[in-house]
Amino acid sequence: MDKFKLTRFAPTPSGFLHLGNIYSFLITKVLAEKYGAKILLRIDDLDHKRTKKKYIQDIFDSLDFMELDYDLGPSDLKDFKKNFSCFKRSSLYDKHIKRLVEKKSVFVCDCSRNKIEKMNPKGFYTGFCKKRKLPFETPESALRIDTPVNQKIKIQTLGGLQESEIPRILRDFVIKKKDGNPAYQLQSIIDDIHFGVDLIVRGNDLWGSSLAQTYLASQLDKNEFSQITFHHHDLILGKKKQKLSKSMGDTSLQFLRKSGMKKEGVFELIGQMTGHSKKIKNLEDFSKSYLKTIEKPKIK
Ligand SMILES: [Zn+2]
Repeated sequence: MDKFKLTRFAPTPSGFLHLGNIYSFLITKVLAEKYGAKILLRIDDLDHKRTKKKYIQDIFDSLDFMELDYDLGPSDLKDFKKNFSCFKRSSLYDKHIKRLVEKKSVFVCDCSRNKIEKMNPKGFYTGFCKKRKLPFETPESALRIDTPVNQKIKIQTLGGLQESEIPRILRDFVIKKKDGNPAYQLQSIIDDIHFGVDLIVRGNDLWGSSLAQTYLASQLDKNEFSQITFHHHDLILGKKKQKLSKSMGDTSLQFLRKSGMKKEGVFELIGQMTGHSKKIKNLEDFSKSYLKTIEKPKIK
């Protein structure tokens, strides 16, 4: 069933890849195969404060170790730096930001994190700067997109059309940071549109981001984003049922590799941690088991 052209795996090199990242990539592989899509490796290195060379290298090493391949994107660190870094697309992000400014979809905000927390203890942005009309030259200012209130955003998923409001924490989200760099939501969606991605597979912790990005895309000049379909998967949780993070070393591929685990062992571990009853030893086992879980009709 050829339904999609391109999906992607888009890790942020701010830590070593962990089991959760690999789980997400395995699901991407399974769905790419099912729908006849190619896979793009798209490394988000825009956050230059947290990005490290060793973490970019680790992405290649970990995928190599797991013998997981992809169709498009950088082949190694050198190729990435030379041809695929987000910084290569700075003028593309700037062009879109300029258009959003012209269309008055955005506003200037000079609130500090402290001030935002004082205005709302949960850290939700209250829209304080929306009516202030600060000039774009305001020092130490960010650009926020004026998001609609009480309006549901329609989003296409593998399970059908869904709709939901942008979560409170992402209301009026930042599209250009105080340091002048594009923010994650803007960079991510513009890159996906730029490369022609039409299927996005990501963890269900990014459901809010999908809504935010869908809204942002609707504000951009001609885009194909309305044709992007999402699949949000469950997350691998740690021992205390918490989300895995890149700072927790013991679930990193690097740690598991160094402690002598083979790739079959990693498959088995992922199988156990995600509640697949049968022993998973390779991509084929995983694929069979995962497809069963998504092909079950969902009761709502
Ligand atoms: Zn503000």
